[in-house]
Amino acid sequence: MTKPHRHCAVCGTPIPPKETVCSDKCEKLMIDRQRKVMRTRRIIYAVFAVFIIIWLYIMLRGQI
Ligand SMILES: [Zn+2]
Repeated sequence: MTKPHRHCAVCGTPIPPKETVCSDKCEKLMIDRQRKVMRTRRIIYAVFAVFIIIWLYIMLRGQI
């Protein structure tokens, strides 16, 4: 049986359960990736907000 372990979130190397990544290099890569994901998410939210504003505008205009 294999001991409980995790895999590096970046390269997949087996690591101790309390670790998230295997090395400083992978940690840096993971932070970079998270930053990119966060930026993408912010853009998606912004586009979504614009759509809601346009939808509200159309709805309100339709009622008048
Ligand atoms: Zn790694």
